[in-house]
Amino acid sequence: MSQRKICYFDNNATTKVAPEVVEAMRPCFEEYWGNPSSVYRFGNQVGRQIDQAREKVAALIHADPREIVFTSCGTESNNAAIHSALRAHPEKRHVITTAVEHSANMKYGAFLQKLGYDVTFLPVESDGSIDIHLVDQSIRPDTAIVSIMWANNETGVLFPIEEIAAICRSKGTPFHTDAVQTPGKLKIDVKALDVDFLSLSAHKLHAPKGIGLLYVKRRTKFIPYIFGGGQEHGRRAGTENVPYIVGFGRAAELAMAWLPDEDTRVRALRDKLETDILGRIPGTSRNGARDARLPNTSNLTFDGVEAEAILMMLDQAGICASSGSACTTGSLDPSHVLTAMGLSPARARGSVRFSLGIYNTAEEVDYALEQLPPIIEKLRAVSPETQRHQVRRAAGHFAET
Ligand code: PLP
Repeated sequence: MSQRKICYFDNNATTKVAPEVVEAMRPCFEEYWGNPSSVYRFGNQVGRQIDQAREKVAALIHADPREIVFTSCGTESNNAAIHSALRAHPEKRHVITTAVEHSANMKYGAFLQKLGYDVTFLPVESDGSIDIHLVDQSIRPDTAIVSIMWANNETGVLFPIEEIAAICRSKGTPFHTDAVQTPGKLKIDVKALDVDFLSLSAHKLHAPKGIGLLYVKRRTKFIPYIFGGGQEHGRRAGTENVPYIVGFGRAAELAMAWLPDEDTRVRALRDKLETDILGRIPGTSRNGARDARLPNTSNLTFDGVEAEAILMMLDQAGICASSGSACTTGSLDPSHVLTAMGLSPARARGSVRFSLGIYNTAEEVDYALEQLPPIIEKLRAVSPETQRHQVRRAAGHFAET
């Protein structure tokens, strides 16, 4: 079955694998398929592929290659950083994070609470920003780690990571940041940020799903999360996913090269989409600070409309976007990010995220702007209950991305 062309505005969920990345990975399947831990040359040359990829991802974040630990995904990286800090100081049983993190932190935090740890989920302001004094006030002698995301996946709102890292440093508390949404959109310099741990996930930067990394600052104590073989210098066991690591390396090079385009052309496309929707469709508003935000993300509330109903109708028009709602036991839970920003459940359920990327064009934005107003008008003509009923009938499951 041939796939019809889609307008993909869901780049915070995942990104298209770049053809350059596929090309870079191909020899790993056809030529360099040995085990990098083997002693013979056929294995060694695979090890060299990993070394080169490590140098490339390290260059993306201005790290030393020895500070990179490849993992299976961003979720594992986040869990591993927090796990390490707790194991390094078992007497410290307090963790600080925020109420708007990805479920990688939210659910791990809830799990830690069940184990008897004390987890502080810091609140945010109505524009999604954080009061950094709260970070300062919340750090205690028994705080094992502070883990705060850099860019929010739902709203694109940026937290002042450099300042938060400085507060943590002044108190001697390790700091981890989930930077999964930032590569190719922001310049990342771990030396300037001075963080202890930083997570990335390759599928957000045009490489495949199932590969990530954890930056571990030199001399920061690291206790592995996965034990077994001595891969990753004993920091993450398991035979390396060589093709994906190589793809990640190539994607890191592309992310650096494409950064200016994302910051100018993609930003302008996002701004046009957002400004025109807000100007043309009454009863719409933006969620999250206007300026301290990723250049590609726009999260908008459509009053009196169920986001899932909008998404279904956009899908019929070949447009992919998303909402932060999670479908649990057949009912739509509003986004925890938007409710933490003070939106009512009804308004949160009426919010849609558009996240653009380097493959989007001005024509696609024009097409979305043409399709959206009649969709909203049609949906507003029926009650939210009817919309919800239609969504429930068609619902699969909605995972947080
Ligand atoms: N953190 C953020 C901010 C994300 O957006 C995501 C993915 O959506 C993750 C973590 C998890 O990354 P992965 O899908 O690689 O586990």
